[in-house]
Amino acid sequence: ELAVPIMRGERVLGVLDAQSTHFDAYDEDDVFILQTFAGQMAVALENARLFGEAQQHAAELGALRQVGLRLSSTVDLKAGLDIIVESALHLVNASGAHIYLYDEEAQKLAFSAALWAGSGRTLAGAQPCFDALAAQVARERRPIAINDIALHPLYLEGAIPDGLPAIAGLPMLLGGRLLGVLGVAFLQPHVFTEDEVRTLSLLADQAVLNIERAQLFDELTHRINQLSSLYQMAQQTTSTLSLQSVLELIVAELGKVISCRAICIFLLDEQTEELWIAAASGLKPEFRDRTRIKIGEGVSGIVFQKLCPIYIRNIPEEAPDLHTDPSIRSLLVVPLIAKSRIIGTLSVDSTAVDAFAASDEHLLTIVAAQAASAIENAQLYEEEKRRAEELRRAYEELKELDRLKSQFVQNISHELRTPLTFIKGYVELFLDEALGPITDRQRQSLEIVGRKTEAITRLVNDIITLQEIEALPLKKAVISLRDLLKMVAASAEATAMNVGIALQASIPDAPMWVLADDDRLIQVFDNLIGNAIKFSPHGGTIAIRAYSQDDQWVVAVQDNGIGIPSDQLDRIFERFYQVDGSSTRRFGGTGLGLAIAKEIVIAHQGRIWAESVLGEGSTFYVSLPQYAAEEGNKSSEDGA
Ligand code: ADP
Repeated sequence: ELAVPIMRGERVLGVLDAQSTHFDAYDEDDVFILQTFAGQMAVALENARLFGEAQQHAAELGALRQVGLRLSSTVDLKAGLDIIVESALHLVNASGAHIYLYDEEAQKLAFSAALWAGSGRTLAGAQPCFDALAAQVARERRPIAINDIALHPLYLEGAIPDGLPAIAGLPMLLGGRLLGVLGVAFLQPHVFTEDEVRTLSLLADQAVLNIERAQLFDELTHRINQLSSLYQMAQQTTSTLSLQSVLELIVAELGKVISCRAICIFLLDEQTEELWIAAASGLKPEFRDRTRIKIGEGVSGIVFQKLCPIYIRNIPEEAPDLHTDPSIRSLLVVPLIAKSRIIGTLSVDSTAVDAFAASDEHLLTIVAAQAASAIENAQLYEEEKRRAEELRRAYEELKELDRLKSQFVQNISHELRTPLTFIKGYVELFLDEALGPITDRQRQSLEIVGRKTEAITRLVNDIITLQEIEALPLKKAVISLRDLLKMVAASAEATAMNVGIALQASIPDAPMWVLADDDRLIQVFDNLIGNAIKFSPHGGTIAIRAYSQDDQWVVAVQDNGIGIPSDQLDRIFERFYQVDGSSTRRFGGTGLGLAIAKEIVIAHQGRIWAESVLGEGSTFYVSLPQYAAEEGNKSSEDGA
């Protein structure tokens, strides 16, 4: 028998052994040949081993890449963790895999996902052995592999899990921060290799990336939701002006983006100088109606006074005397400031201690700014609406007063007519000496009485005319405006001449048919020409022109008298309106002439207006619809 070692460097890989049935079968050459073979075998074996190792690595990398690809298709934390435990199971052929996530704030590990080969997902919490290992890994922040659990110090005193000889735990670390622990377990004896531990560590790193991505995604989704809620709130609050709807909208939208027990909007009652709850959600009704807060008292009262937010993280500890619902643990209040004026406060509370993060405070401040201006707008709008309603009512009252006044004036005018006729009659009888002779002084006095009586009669008649135009129908007939104007001009000529004023009429030859009440039209032009004479200086000229324009006859009465200020051109058509209304005015009159003219012209579907340059003269225009033959047929048919 000849045996030679199969050596790779100093390491023995095996023995090459040759045997023979003969004595002394091998010589020196055979030893050399066998050694040469053994050397070649060593090379071949090493190559095969390296190849196997390389293949194993390639398979691991391929499997990890697959895990990476599967993970990249989800941003859901739970789904990602499920993929990780499944991969852990397959990568090392383990019996079970599980993940704990680390809650930094509570400093606690909490079970998240688990998978058992062949049996499906179960709660790892039911396996206290995992808790012990996970806690150890979390403390030491390094992988721990236990090949024989019964001998491991971690399990010397605690419960040894049945039939779980080998388990391993790997920390999931982001920078120095612990995010969780990944664990695997074997139901049959197993010795963890370095390769397995490395592969599982790489998987733990994948899990970290997945958790981070899922958290970022959640955060992003949360922010987007907040933003879209803010946007929606801004849009809706600007499109509604009812104060109550604005308040309710703010509370509802805020409830969607902040998790809390109750939301409250306090507004200032300016009369009592107290804050009252104008809108709320999550409050007990009796609390809502009862609450009145004085400025400077309670949290809202202090926020209102100091104009800055207050956050009480732990009410029982920080403000045990606060009068709130006993279930509340934390309270965040911000001021509602609109255009640098404080109008109230906005508050959120929670049954949890320190329930609000800095981002909540930030969000609430933004909402408060937006809410304050929406509330102020709605308040202003409601105030405006109230004022407009008051004005409308005042206007109605004034209109009614005006109507009563006109009624009164008209009634008095009617009552004055008969006595005035008597006075006029007796004055004439006296002047005619039908009641006996009178002296010259008596005659002078009686003549004054007569003139003044005339003036009162004119006024009374004007008032009665106005009433009649409103109440009685016009006596319309087809008449020639040309003839009417010529007649009016002719009768005014004498009066004009008396005061040294020239009257020029430029009237077309055409008859200028109109459907009109001639007595009333005469009244209009008498008045316009009368005013022109009255407000013109000695030696002035008055021009009367008539022409056709857009199916209308237009009559213009132009003077070069005192003129009318432009801001009063419309007002002179109002009843009793006079440019110089003072008792010392130079010109007589009642201020009713133009009002009557306007009523008459409007009753003829016409228009009357004035143009004037102060100190240079005025032109009054009247336009009346031209009468066409077809209309004549129509109106006579109507008449029939
Ligand atoms: P009255 O002439 O009796 O005062 P009107 O209603 O006819 O009343 O006129 C109202 C006011 O309009 C006049 O008091 C006067 O101030 C102004 N007015 C009317 N016509 C003229 C005019 N041709 N030139 C200047 N002012 C005029």
